[in-house]
Amino acid sequence: MKITNCPVCGKFHTGERSYSGLCIDCAEIHLQHSHKIKDYLQQHPFASVMEVYFNTGVPLRSIREVMKNV
Ligand SMILES: [Zn+2]
Repeated sequence: MKITNCPVCGKFHTGERSYSGLCIDCAEIHLQHSHKIKDYLQQHPFASVMEVYFNTGVPLRSIREVMKNV
């Protein structure tokens, strides 16, 4: 079994089926964040990173990551 250390909270976990090395808790939060960002962008397609940040409260890092993949 491979043990990975979560890049967000530092918790050790098995890393199976996890999203980019995140533990289950952080992967869940990441998922909620990306839903929030995508919802906002659907209503405000030309919003800037800062605008999304101020209106959703999601960390900038997550916003940049999601917007990069849109
Ligand atoms: Zn974590």
